[in-house]
Order: sequence, then structure tokens, then C-alpha cells
Amino acid sequence: MNNAIFNLEKPSNEHTLDYAPGCKERDALNKELDRLSGEVQDIPLIIGGKEFRTGKTGTVVMPHDHQHILAHYQMAGEKEVKMAIDAAIMAHKGWESLNWVERVSITLKAAELLSTKYRFLINAATMLGQGKNAFQAEIDSACEAIDFLNFNAYFTSLVYKEQPSSQKGIINRIEYRPLEGFVFAVSPFNFTSIASNLIMAPVVMGNTTLWKPASTAILSNYFLMKIFQEAGLPDGVINFIPGSGSLIGKAALGDRNMAGIHFTGSTQTFNSLWQTAAENISIYHSYPKIVGETGGKDFIFVHPSADPQEVAVAIVRGAFEYQGQKCSAASRGYIPESMWPDIRKRIEDMLSQVTMGDVREFHHFMNAVIDEKSFDNIMNYIDFARKSDKAEIIFGGHGDKTKGYFIEPTVILAKEPHFKTMEEEIFGPVMTLFVYKDHDYEKTLEICDHTSPYGLTGSVFSKDRSALNYACRVLRYAAGNIYFNDKPTGAVVGQQPFGGARASGTNDKSGSYINLLRWTNPRTIKETLLPATEFTYPFMKE
Ligand code: NAD
Repeated sequence: MNNAIFNLEKPSNEHTLDYAPGCKERDALNKELDRLSGEVQDIPLIIGGKEFRTGKTGTVVMPHDHQHILAHYQMAGEKEVKMAIDAAIMAHKGWESLNWVERVSITLKAAELLSTKYRFLINAATMLGQGKNAFQAEIDSACEAIDFLNFNAYFTSLVYKEQPSSQKGIINRIEYRPLEGFVFAVSPFNFTSIASNLIMAPVVMGNTTLWKPASTAILSNYFLMKIFQEAGLPDGVINFIPGSGSLIGKAALGDRNMAGIHFTGSTQTFNSLWQTAAENISIYHSYPKIVGETGGKDFIFVHPSADPQEVAVAIVRGAFEYQGQKCSAASRGYIPESMWPDIRKRIEDMLSQVTMGDVREFHHFMNAVIDEKSFDNIMNYIDFARKSDKAEIIFGGHGDKTKGYFIEPTVILAKEPHFKTMEEEIFGPVMTLFVYKDHDYEKTLEICDHTSPYGLTGSVFSKDRSALNYACRVLRYAAGNIYFNDKPTGAVVGQQPFGGARASGTNDKSGSYINLLRWTNPRTIKETLLPATEFTYPFMKE
């Protein structure tokens, strides 16, 4: 199998199922929802392919019904982190020396398993454990996870194909070694697909990993781990170690073999990981590669030429789908005064039709936020706005955590553009709008650029091409993903490579060729066909 140069075709994106009433996919999904709702999973650590139980456990509950336990999971201690590091180091040689086509075949098989045999399982687990409705789960845990795997397989082949030129008499090659050590992958609660990608991007490039999943995403993440094993991933290539972030982080980052961090989560956590790595810099074998996608304060900016209905739909979908718990969710908007009464009415009409509830009742547009800590944090922001004379809550504003963590879609009208909820990431169903005078379009764009420390996503709505062009220039660094006349969420792998800079991360564009380059340690090999046999040069001759 080593004597051919293999070609992978560019994949197409996974088709999204719509789960409309009466279709067989809806029945299959309901069956898995019923089954998982009626069981309590027992989730072990998986280190070197073996299951471990520490006796220290946590629980996974349904966000919309927090007394309903879905799983108990084991928590890793320092000893298990050390075991996981040993297992990753042990697996490194075998995995990296495997022909890349074999490695890629495993990721393609995992994609195929997710697309067929386990599609409804992974969607049901994401719905119940992470509080997503059927459509939000489908575009995340099925489609995006599958796309990440398929596209990364293809991008791997492009990376390996990239070779230097060779002149007469010499052969130059680049060998794409994986990092020398393990990659520490730390994943967030809000996207099953991101968790999958944080581990599988380094893995497909020949690395071995420690995977610390978010405690509130452990149900779906455990099933992912089982799927990777079924796809043929050798023992020790991924070591699944749920538990306390700070404990696991300290132990993993304190090891000299820590060669890379692949993180998605809050800016604050990423800063602390980076700081710990910096403090440990003298112990590491190599300078670690640090890749992080973090928070956002994503905007919708409206020019007076925009269509009010298109703007209102973008606000409702962009800010409130998945309860605003997307790093890309719209959470601040700039509306021209001339359009405000019309847009306001349209938003209020739409939001008054939105219902919230159990993810198994398919008619709800919204469900619960992830946990109590998040509920309290979001409500604190809403209460701050309620008490302030610089803002007014014009829609929603109430929450109830008696049974599940429900918060109404909330719209705040800010009287000044630097109001707290225009600047800070809230990560919940809260949209703050600022109304500007139409003739202040240019000035307000500058304010938008400087208002928040983040630079992740943003949208500009306009029918005037020169206004779009102007906004694009002023907002050059305000977003790593900018949208014209569309909501700022819903990036698709292979179409809109995702990520931002400033406080939003290292902008290594997940699900792209650019990201995969971070997981290699290239070696250049020069071979001289006929080496020199004299040490003198012609110019030295008389
Ligand atoms: P979080 O920072 O609370 O947690 C992320 C992960 O880090 C979890 O697994 C957590 O257990 C772990 N962790 C926490 N402290 C740690 C430590 N000291 N050492 C090691 N690990 C530690 O984030 P979250 O609440 O899960 O996710 C929401 C955040 O993620 C939001 O800020 C959102 O904007 C961001 N996010 C960004 C993107 C992006 O692509 N930019 C995508 C999704 C989510």
C-alpha cells in the first residue's frame, strides 16, 4: 500500500435532514430520544483504550428538566492525567508512522458512522444533554461534525502534497511530522462538532491527544469517543478524561511532553491556559503550539438602505437560535433611526410567536440555557439593564429555573453605544440594540469597531454596494467572519472557514487547511545527487 500517491476528492457538505412531521428520520430520532431519556449512562474515563473508574463522579442532566439525570460520569484526578499522558506518548510512534491514507481512512469511517448508523444517537444525545432542538442538533452534531472529518481528510492530502522545488542535482522534500509530544484538546459545551474537531484535526495529522470535554457535554462526547473507537482508532490516540478543568489543565500543562493546546471556550479560560503554559515554558521539550477559538460580541450593522424584514429575521435567528449560546450569535445591533419603528415592530411580532420548552417537543424555536451558573450570569446582565437608566428592556427579560433553565428572548434598547451589554459577551438569549442617526453611519461604524475587545463575527445589511464596501473597510479587524446581508451565525465547513482574532482567539480557522498546519512539525530533507569533491571555488583560481 506504500507504492502509490493517493488522491482524495474534495468532499461536498453533508445534506441536512429537516425532521418534518411524518418523515422516517423524525421517527428514528424520536426513538433515540425516548431510549436515552429512559436510561442513565455510566460514563468511564477511556485511557489507552481501557475504561477506568475513579469513584469520583459527576452527573449529566437535561437543561430543560434539571432533575432528570441522563448519566453519571467518572472524573479524572492527577493520577489519571499522568496515565493518559503515558498512553498518548506510547501510542505516538505507531500512529505517526502509519501511512497517512490509513489515518485518513479512519476519520472517513468515523464520518460515515456519524452520517448513518449513529446519526440519530448523536443528535438525540446533543439535544437532551446540551439543550438543542432537532434542527440545531442536526446542523451541529451530525452535519458539521461529518464535514469537519471529511474536509480535514481532504485538507490533509493537500498539506502533504505541498512540496518545495528541486533544482538540477538535488532533491528537496518536506516531511510533515506530527508534534513531538501530546496535544491537549479542551472542548466547550455548545458544539458537539467542535469537540470532535478539536481532537480529530491534530489526530489526522498523526498526533495523539488528551481530551478534556466540557462537563455539560459529556453525554454526546462519550458517544463520539465510542464512535472513533469503532472507526478503528488505535488505543491511546485519544484519551478521554472528563473532570475538573483546573485540575486536569494544571496536570496536563505541567508535563514536559505537552506539545500543543487545541482549545475552544471562553477567553478567560484560554488566557489562563496560555498563562500556565508560559509559566511552564522552561520545562517543555518544544515550544507548544497554542490554538484557541474563544468569545465573541457579534454584531448586526444596518444601513438605511437595508430591507427591514431581512434584518428582523437575521436578528431573531442570529441572536436567539440555541438560546444565543453560539460564539457567533448576534448580541449587539446598530439600527438607523429611520428604520427603527418598522424593525422593532417586526422583531416584536416574530418574538411573540416564539415558544420555549422541552427539546422533545419539536415545535419550540428555543429551549433552556445550559446550566444554573449560566442562567444566573445571564439574568444578572438582564437585571443590570432593568435597573439602569441608560437602557430599557423592550422584549422579554424574565427567567425561570424551577424545572429547567429557561430565559425569554430578551431585547435591550441601549441609550448609549458603550452600554455594558453592548460590550461584554453574555452567551445567552439577549440582544442589545443601539439606534443611530442615519447621517452618523460612518461614525457609528467606527464605534462598532472599537466597542468590544472581540473580533469574531459580524453582519452588515445594505442594498447600497458602496455602503457595504465602506463598512467592510472600517470593520476590517472587527470580525474574522463577516457577512453581507445574512445573519452572523451558521458558518459551513469548507465554505466559510471559521475564527476570529483580537480577544476571540488565534484565528487559525477551524476546519481548514490553515488549522491543520498548526499540528505539524515539518522537516526539510535535502539530498545532493553528486556531492562536491573539491573544497575550493572557481573564483579562487588565478
Ligand atoms: P469554558 O471556557 O467555560 O470551558 C471550555 C472548556 O475549558 C471546558 O471543557 C472546561 O471544563 C475547560 N476548562 C475550564 N477551566 C479550565 C482550566 N483552568 N484548565 C483546563 N480546562 C479548563 O467555555 P464554555 O462555557 O464551555 O463555552 C462557551 C464559551 O466558548 C463562550 O465564550 C463562547 O464564545 C466560546 N466558544 C467559542 C467558539 C469559537 O469558535 N470562537 C466556539 C464555541 C464556543
